[in-house]
Amino acid sequence: MRQRLSVEAYVAGVLAADRVVLSRAITLVESQLPADQPLAQEVLERVLPHAGRSLRLGITGVPGVGKSTFIEAFGKYLTGQGKRLAVLTVDPSSQRSGGSILGDKTRMEELAHDPRAYIRPSAAGTSLGGVARRTREAMLLCEAAGFEIILVETVGVGQSETVVRGMVDFFLLLMLAGAGDELQGIKRGIMEMADAVAITKADGPLAAEARRAQAEYQNALHLFPPAASGWVPQVLTCSALERTGLAELWHLIQKYHQSTLQTGYFEQNRRAQALDWMHDYIRQALEERFRRHPEVLRQLPATEKAVQQGHELPLAAARRLLALFLK
Ligand code: GDP
Repeated sequence: MRQRLSVEAYVAGVLAADRVVLSRAITLVESQLPADQPLAQEVLERVLPHAGRSLRLGITGVPGVGKSTFIEAFGKYLTGQGKRLAVLTVDPSSQRSGGSILGDKTRMEELAHDPRAYIRPSAAGTSLGGVARRTREAMLLCEAAGFEIILVETVGVGQSETVVRGMVDFFLLLMLAGAGDELQGIKRGIMEMADAVAITKADGPLAAEARRAQAEYQNALHLFPPAASGWVPQVLTCSALERTGLAELWHLIQKYHQSTLQTGYFEQNRRAQALDWMHDYIRQALEERFRRHPEVLRQLPATEKAVQQGHELPLAAARRLLALFLK
């Protein structure tokens, strides 16, 4: 059993950007143990006044698009600009719950050793649709630790993009030049959420094709209805290998930040997200309580079987289980 720290020790360690304590604090807020909840809540409330001042970036792309290589290169570019950066990722290979996963460190090795960067992989087992269920809370802890840029990576499995879009300020989609038509089909909805598209691997023989794709995507984006932010999404090319296109991307993100601050959209979006956060939390907490209810626990396996085998109607079963819980 892992030893818990005192509230003071968690808060002081996080505010001092002590990585070990920060990691333990994230593990604490990710914990599903009922006994951890009051402590986690108190730590979050205490760090809250120190959070919220970062720029939150979401990043997605299909496996193989070059996400990890890109995050490493872009991360190094940002820390080279004197920025402090936290990267929150979901490690799809791990089903282990809680704690950090050492195996994932090799993914962004150079960035992991950068004193201005902090990488936090969360086990996929603790995730909802490919996003860690406490990503927002982890984000707050990183902000309180003074990280100015928080990068949230999604594994690109459909649902997760929408979830991440709902918790960041800027959403970046990485795409490959010359990817198949069916892929573009899947990506259409996701493209509509993007504030920028970066065509990856724009180097060597792939560079010309990347430029062609850039023009195509830019045209395609014009067909979408204008975004609520008033921002027109941009398409860029980049190469993580040659480290090109990264400065342009950062300038674009800063431009977005400035313009949405000016129009008031930035604040408005964060407030809307705060409301969603509350509702998500209520939903999650209710469901967790429901699943822990002794009578529900006792009856759930048999009920699931009955529904699966068609012996009980889903709605009737749900009502019956809910009645046990709401009694
Ligand atoms: P992920 O699955 O999206 O995280 O993709 P990876 O970062 O693991 O990259 C997938 C493959 O693409 C690896 O073999 C990389 O070496 C290669 N790759 C990544 N970035 C670049 C790039 O900028 N240029 C080229 N030519 N290859 C790249």
